Amino acid sequence: MNVYKANKTLPLEPVTSQWMHDLFAQSDLMHQLLDKYDSPINILNITSFKTNIKAYKNLFKNYHIDGQIYFARKANKTATLINSALQENIGIDTASYNELNQAIERGGKGKSLVLTSAIKTPNQLKLALAHEVPVILDNQDEFNLYNKIASSAGKTAHIGVRISGFRVNGQKLYSRFGIDIDSIKDFINDNFINNEKFPNLRIYGLHFHLNGYSTIERSQALLQTIEIAKYLRANSFPIKFIDIGGGITMNYLKDETQLEAFKTELQSQVMHIEKEELTFRRNGLGYKNIDGKLSGTLETYPYFNKIHTETFIKKILDFQNNGETIAQSLNKNNLQLRIEPGRSLLQQVGITVARVNYRKKDSEGRNLIGLEMNMSQLKSASTDFLLDPYIIYRNPIKNNTEWKKVYFTGAYCLEQDIILKKVSEIPQIPEIGDIVVFVNTAGYLMHFYERQAHLFNLSNNLTLDTMETECLEISDFKLD
Ligand SMILES: *Cc1c(COP(=O)(O)O)cnc(C)c1O
Repeated sequence: MNVYKANKTLPLEPVTSQWMHDLFAQSDLMHQLLDKYDSPINILNITSFKTNIKAYKNLFKNYHIDGQIYFARKANKTATLINSALQENIGIDTASYNELNQAIERGGKGKSLVLTSAIKTPNQLKLALAHEVPVILDNQDEFNLYNKIASSAGKTAHIGVRISGFRVNGQKLYSRFGIDIDSIKDFINDNFINNEKFPNLRIYGLHFHLNGYSTIERSQALLQTIEIAKYLRANSFPIKFIDIGGGITMNYLKDETQLEAFKTELQSQVMHIEKEELTFRRNGLGYKNIDGKLSGTLETYPYFNKIHTETFIKKILDFQNNGETIAQSLNKNNLQLRIEPGRSLLQQVGITVARVNYRKKDSEGRNLIGLEMNMSQLKSASTDFLLDPYIIYRNPIKNNTEWKKVYFTGAYCLEQDIILKKVSEIPQIPEIGDIVVFVNTAGYLMHFYERQAHLFNLSNNLTLDTMETECLEISDFKLD
């Protein structure tokens, strides 16, 4: 076997799946795929996606909760995921005309879809109206626009209202989205109860999506939203659901202590210039040395999460208020709970595979490994992707070699096209054509920021729909 995970020292060992290791072991096949589809390729295992859907469904079943899942489409562009989600009887959260249109074309209907775009153009709203897709409205201008469109069409539109500005521990949660919780009742009174300003809009539900990954904030927001739902029902609104959006964490790393050890070393590098470089050109990844004092925080995704996916939702549902859990309160009030997971439904779904193009040293002596890919193809809002990559050598590596510190660089004509900022330590400098694999990249990393600067081709997405991956053929992979 010529497959090595990077980083013997200061490892950040990723959680992986057997299907990934089976693929690594079939390196001839990996080379064939790269030859056929060009570098980089993204490989998505649809069976993993379906497993993740089932886990959320089982959780709702165990709680006897009316729970509905809407896959947040924006987290990955692969269209096959839409078909699989619909086959598994879950919905799709769409946020643009094209996302909505594609979901409709692939069989999504009415309540199996939702439109939550941050900017809702007349075209999007007309399409949603024509297909009876619920729309989550954000502000008075959107209410005006949608009412006008529905009125011209002689229809009543199905809507939910996005709320924000929840108070948690005395602090108001900032958001640029939604109608502030402190003014939602006035808004409803002015526009629906005391006046009938929007006769063509019918409110069936309430929605929020919080920034960050706190379960307590979500529980508190949900409690406050249940109160608004009760107020609306008391005023004859047919409220059916509360949608708590996404932001459900997933876990990428095997061992929390490894992340802690890395943080400690990173802080130490920021404070002590004499220490050996741990990140490209000593990037602090959020930590700063200000006049000899450490400040800032690690500005990456929280790659280790003890509470994640189903346990994250469990935490929210088990939250107690006045002797009642949120799950009990939802049931008592006969409210449907909707979630819009993007990232967490893509747990263990994808890998990104690239070919080595060159090896060189930069002007300060660092080993650079040029990959046939670019920084936009492994990028999220996180300042770095802190998972050890895998190297697949074509030829056996030489014995007793000393591991080498390298950085992977990409095709942009920018100094900062460094694919991982954390240094990677690998057993041997790869040969041209060897393969580097980044695992668990399906949630945002492969697509959300992918660009066509330099007129690069977009990466190809290949799907695989099996867990029997020991002996695969090129025809088992479908180009999306
Ligand atoms: C981004 C987004 C989601 C998905 O968030 P994840 O963190 O991927 O689960 C869901 N709903 C809305 C409204 C969003 O903006």
